[in-house]
Amino acid sequence: MCSCEWCTKRTGSAFGISVYFPEDQIAFLGEDWKTFRLTSDAGRWLETRFCGRCGTTVGWTLEFLPGHCGVAGGTFDNPKFWYTPQRYGFARSKPDWLEIPDGLHVFQAMPGSPNE
Ligand SMILES: [Zn+2]
Repeated sequence: MCSCEWCTKRTGSAFGISVYFPEDQIAFLGEDWKTFRLTSDAGRWLETRFCGRCGTTVGWTLEFLPGHCGVAGGTFDNPKFWYTPQRYGFARSKPDWLEIPDGLHVFQAMPGSPNE
Protein backbone atom coordinates (compact mmCIF):
# COMPACT_ATOMS: atom_id res chain seq x y z
CA MET A 1 0.00 0.00 0.00
CA CYS A 2 1.33 3.45 -0.81
CA SER A 3 0.27 7.06 -0.40
CA CYS A 4 2.95 8.66 -2.59
CA GLU A 5 1.81 11.36 -4.99
CA TRP A 6 2.00 9.03 -7.99
CA CYS A 7 -0.12 6.32 -6.36
CA THR A 8 -2.76 8.77 -5.16
CA LYS A 9 -3.02 10.44 -8.57
CA ARG A 10 -2.89 7.12 -10.46
CA THR A 11 -5.75 5.70 -8.42
CA GLY A 12 -7.64 8.89 -7.59
CA SER A 13 -7.68 7.61 -4.03
CA ALA A 14 -5.85 7.90 -0.69
CA PHE A 15 -3.51 5.02 -1.53
CA GLY A 16 -2.59 2.56 -4.21
CA ILE A 17 -2.10 -1.17 -3.81
CA SER A 18 0.80 -2.67 -5.72
CA VAL A 19 1.39 -6.40 -5.93
CA TYR A 20 4.94 -7.09 -7.13
CA PHE A 21 6.10 -10.13 -9.07
CA PRO A 22 9.40 -11.08 -10.69
CA GLU A 23 9.18 -9.60 -14.19
CA ASP A 24 9.66 -13.01 -15.86
CA GLN A 25 6.54 -14.35 -14.13
CA ILE A 26 4.22 -11.72 -15.65
CA ALA A 27 2.71 -11.69 -19.14
CA PHE A 28 0.30 -9.08 -20.48
CA LEU A 29 -1.72 -10.96 -23.07
CA GLY A 30 -3.48 -9.36 -26.03
CA GLU A 31 -2.64 -6.37 -28.19
CA ASP A 32 -4.47 -3.47 -26.58
CA TRP A 33 -1.76 -2.45 -24.12
CA LYS A 34 -0.38 1.08 -24.05
CA THR A 35 2.50 2.39 -21.99
CA PHE A 36 3.22 5.75 -20.46
CA ARG A 37 6.56 6.73 -18.95
CA LEU A 38 6.99 9.58 -16.54
CA THR A 39 9.77 10.86 -14.32
CA SER A 40 9.19 11.22 -10.59
CA ASP A 41 10.18 14.27 -8.56
CA ALA A 42 13.20 12.22 -7.47
CA GLY A 43 14.26 11.94 -11.13
CA ARG A 44 13.48 8.25 -11.55
CA TRP A 45 11.32 6.83 -14.35
CA LEU A 46 8.11 4.89 -13.88
CA GLU A 47 6.38 3.16 -16.78
CA THR A 48 2.74 2.24 -16.54
CA ARG A 49 0.89 -0.23 -18.72
CA PHE A 50 -2.77 0.43 -19.30
CA CYS A 51 -5.57 -0.99 -21.39
CA GLY A 52 -6.05 0.87 -24.67
CA ARG A 53 -9.76 0.00 -24.68
CA CYS A 54 -10.87 0.92 -21.15
CA GLY A 55 -7.91 2.99 -19.87
CA THR A 56 -7.41 0.95 -16.69
CA THR A 57 -3.84 1.02 -15.40
CA VAL A 58 -2.99 -2.62 -14.75
CA GLY A 59 0.77 -2.79 -14.27
CA TRP A 60 4.06 -0.89 -14.10
CA THR A 61 7.78 -1.14 -13.89
CA LEU A 62 9.92 1.17 -11.78
CA GLU A 63 13.52 2.23 -12.32
CA PHE A 64 14.34 1.67 -8.66
CA LEU A 65 12.94 -1.88 -8.64
CA PRO A 66 14.60 -3.62 -11.59
CA GLY A 67 13.43 -7.11 -12.50
CA HIS A 68 9.99 -6.67 -10.96
CA CYS A 69 6.57 -5.74 -12.26
CA GLY A 70 3.82 -4.20 -10.17
CA VAL A 71 0.20 -5.12 -10.72
CA ALA A 72 -2.63 -2.86 -9.54
CA GLY A 73 -4.14 -4.64 -6.55
CA GLY A 74 -7.73 -4.02 -7.57
CA THR A 75 -7.45 -5.37 -11.12
CA PHE A 76 -7.32 -9.11 -10.46
CA ASP A 77 -10.29 -11.19 -11.53
CA ASN A 78 -11.86 -13.28 -8.82
CA PRO A 79 -10.64 -14.03 -6.30
CA LYS A 80 -9.97 -10.34 -5.74
CA PHE A 81 -7.71 -9.22 -2.90
CA TRP A 82 -6.20 -12.70 -2.45
CA TYR A 83 -2.98 -11.18 -1.10
CA THR A 84 -2.18 -9.81 2.35
CA PRO A 85 -0.71 -6.28 2.40
CA GLN A 86 2.78 -6.29 3.87
CA ARG A 87 4.13 -2.74 3.62
CA TYR A 88 2.80 0.81 3.62
CA GLY A 89 4.97 3.38 1.84
CA PHE A 90 4.78 7.17 2.10
CA ALA A 91 2.72 7.01 5.29
CA ARG A 92 3.72 10.65 5.84
CA SER A 93 1.42 11.57 2.94
CA LYS A 94 -1.66 9.61 3.95
CA PRO A 95 -4.76 11.50 5.03
CA ASP A 96 -5.26 11.85 8.80
CA TRP A 97 -8.56 9.94 8.62
CA LEU A 98 -6.92 6.84 7.17
CA GLU A 99 -5.87 4.26 9.76
CA ILE A 100 -3.09 1.90 8.68
CA PRO A 101 -4.05 -1.72 9.38
CA ASP A 102 -2.10 -3.52 12.11
CA GLY A 103 0.72 -5.77 11.04
CA LEU A 104 2.09 -3.72 8.14
CA HIS A 105 5.69 -2.58 7.98
CA VAL A 106 5.25 1.21 7.76
CA PHE A 107 7.66 3.52 5.94
CA GLN A 108 7.28 7.31 6.13
CA ALA A 109 8.71 7.63 2.59
CA MET A 110 9.95 5.19 -0.03
CA PRO A 111 10.79 1.79 1.45
CA GLY A 112 14.55 1.43 1.22
CA SER A 113 15.26 5.15 0.81
CA PRO A 114 17.56 7.06 3.21
CA ASN A 115 14.59 8.97 4.71
CA GLU A 116 12.27 5.99 5.09
ZN1 LIG B 1 3.38 4.99 -4.37
